[in-house]
Amino acid sequence: MPDTESFPALPLFDLALQPQDLQAVAETLRSGWLTLGPRTAAFEEAFAAQLGVRHAIAVSSCTAALHLAYLAAGVGPGDEVIVPAFTFAATAAAVLYCGGTPVFAEIASRANPNIDADDVERRITPRTKAVCAVHYAGYAAPVDRLRELCDERGIALIEDVAHAPSASLHGRKLGAWGMAGAFSFFSNKVLSVGEGGLLATDSDDVAEFVRSRRSHAMTSGTWDRHQGSTDTYDVVGLGFNYRLDEPRAALLLSRLERLEAEIARRRELTVRYRELLSSVEGIIVPFEDSAVPTSSCYVIPIMLERDGLQAQVSAELRERGIQTSIFYPSIHRFSAYRERFPDVSLPVTELASRTELTLPFYPHMTNDDQDRVATALAEVLAR
Ligand SMILES: *Cc1c(COP(=O)(O)O)cnc(C)c1O
Repeated sequence: MPDTESFPALPLFDLALQPQDLQAVAETLRSGWLTLGPRTAAFEEAFAAQLGVRHAIAVSSCTAALHLAYLAAGVGPGDEVIVPAFTFAATAAAVLYCGGTPVFAEIASRANPNIDADDVERRITPRTKAVCAVHYAGYAAPVDRLRELCDERGIALIEDVAHAPSASLHGRKLGAWGMAGAFSFFSNKVLSVGEGGLLATDSDDVAEFVRSRRSHAMTSGTWDRHQGSTDTYDVVGLGFNYRLDEPRAALLLSRLERLEAEIARRRELTVRYRELLSSVEGIIVPFEDSAVPTSSCYVIPIMLERDGLQAQVSAELRERGIQTSIFYPSIHRFSAYRERFPDVSLPVTELASRTELTLPFYPHMTNDDQDRVATALAEVLAR
């Protein structure tokens, strides 16, 4: 990372690549084939096996995967998709790409800031085409209940698994519960390569649709034609350029080998963080200790018990060299969404957005780093 002095001593996130990662990318660059090809196919196969699904389709981002998932669910003008508002804007924006309407649902509580299944049930209408569950911070949303709710009504369950590769619920991996799971490989995610995403599904039809639409709905790709299997193609629908390129696929393959070990380290660090934070007065630490062993432990969110302190606490931590962020501002409170959805009111989500702070966290963080964060937080809150 850049070594300018303005960077905090303890950043929110830091990425450490290994020599074998760089070598995998260099080999790919030397191979002369840079987009959708054998390395992407190998990564898809490895990812599908690791997740336990029939199909994994690499795309250019999680946002692209969400867009294709909603399209595969048949979302179009007049249709509604129930999403949380306590998530990244892309979860809702991709519904709007399809001409559909996002319907925002509450989180269960600040201690369990995942989508509330009861609130989802209340918001289902004859126009509901899909429900999207986000596994916030890597902890399972109630996809067991949501799946029942959706199955009973013929609604598609989509999982936004951007935070939660290799996390699970009742022994089944997240991203394998619904019609499709959308993963992110953006820079600061658990399995990060800069930009990239993936759609996982057990449905042959969804897989065929997504493979086609990620590359202009062409009946054959450049790689097929390069291999001489065909010289021509047809375009059979409205497609997109949502392809992943080969250097990133190579980096993903290389990093995927260490994913379980890195998540194991994240869990150890999370357990230790939670112990340290349990003695800090004035905060709520979301989720139960018992959920850590099946979480991907993407980030460390905390909620300040008292409303109105967020900006000040964040500024005082920054003065001590500790970067924090708000994870997440409520989507429906952003200007562009307030204009479209002026009447949305979600008190629990809004309070969470006003009181949440995310603490520095990455697999190569040291015990000393963690102690520093917890001590600084306790000092700031004691004043
Ligand atoms: C990061 C993120 C996305 C978008 O991922 P991209 O790969 O950057 O498109 C979507 N949803 C959630 C919950 C995210 O955290």
